[in-house]
Amino acid sequence: MNEMRKKTILSGMRPTGKLHLGHWTGALENWVALQESYNNYHLVADYHALTTNLDTSNLYQNTIDMVIDWLAGGIDPEKSPVFRQSQVKEHTELHLIFSMLITKSRLERNPSIKDQVRDLEIENIVYGHLGYPVLQAADILLYRGELVPVGEDQLSHVEITREIARRFNSTWGDVFPEPEPRVTKFARLPGLDGKDRKMSKSMNNTILLSDDPTTVDQKLRKAPTDVLKVRRNDPGRPDVCLVYTYHEKFNPGETAEIRQGCESGELGCVDCKKRCGARISEFLAPHIEGRRRYEENPSLVEDILRDGEKRARVVARETMAAVHDAMKLG
Ligand code: SF4
Repeated sequence: MNEMRKKTILSGMRPTGKLHLGHWTGALENWVALQESYNNYHLVADYHALTTNLDTSNLYQNTIDMVIDWLAGGIDPEKSPVFRQSQVKEHTELHLIFSMLITKSRLERNPSIKDQVRDLEIENIVYGHLGYPVLQAADILLYRGELVPVGEDQLSHVEITREIARRFNSTWGDVFPEPEPRVTKFARLPGLDGKDRKMSKSMNNTILLSDDPTTVDQKLRKAPTDVLKVRRNDPGRPDVCLVYTYHEKFNPGETAEIRQGCESGELGCVDCKKRCGARISEFLAPHIEGRRRYEENPSLVEDILRDGEKRARVVARETMAAVHDAMKLG
């Protein structure tokens, strides 16, 4: 009997250095789970990083630090190639072709661009930033990705990718699938500064996957809790408390007890945070151990990237040959 063909998934991140718990819950946890049943490609989106920051001095080190977190988190580079966008030139070629298939006004209507340029006039953003969903479409379709793991806030990008695939296929012939979004469940972990902002390095409200237990405790100590629970014995409201959200994710076995203790006033916030910190550090311990091997020998990471790039190039060239054929480019 033929083995069922595995569907292809492209997932990527900008190289922002060491990852935090929000990256784990919003993406990496899902990637690791999906690698058994799908044909995965893991992209370091280093050209995407240029859309908002032209300083490339830390790009290489940020790439290594991020990829170490991927590997320590459980990404198996034998199963799923791990590679840098900038090292597979076909990304830029396909981006150029795709940029002929979408209008400027369509890109200006992209809701996440509107969010990102909140403080700027749309006229002042660079061409590459406005067009980054087009580069993203090239990233996905170069590997003929059929599924894209995303948070709710990225659904509009997948829609642009689908529109471009349709436009290409109807203009020159069927080359690309129309990828489906696969929404990540626990996509938005709140940052240490409150429940309504997601964890993000730019907001300096993160717990890193590489933070040691002392650092985790120190960071949690400053986290806001229920404002009505002023003294230790005051009853609190777990549902409005950030720390309780972390218990739900990293300490699910004790949430009933924490809720009861908080609501009755038997549990104080200092003790509650200590328990939360201990569970998060238990969760992070194998990750920190997993990082060590690569931190001591970064050339292992370079070898993994080179191997991933070689394998990605083979697929990328096949796709571009099909593109050239369809377009009768020679
Ligand atoms: S006891 Fe825990 S859940 Fe309750 S308000 Fe304090 S930190 Fe939050």
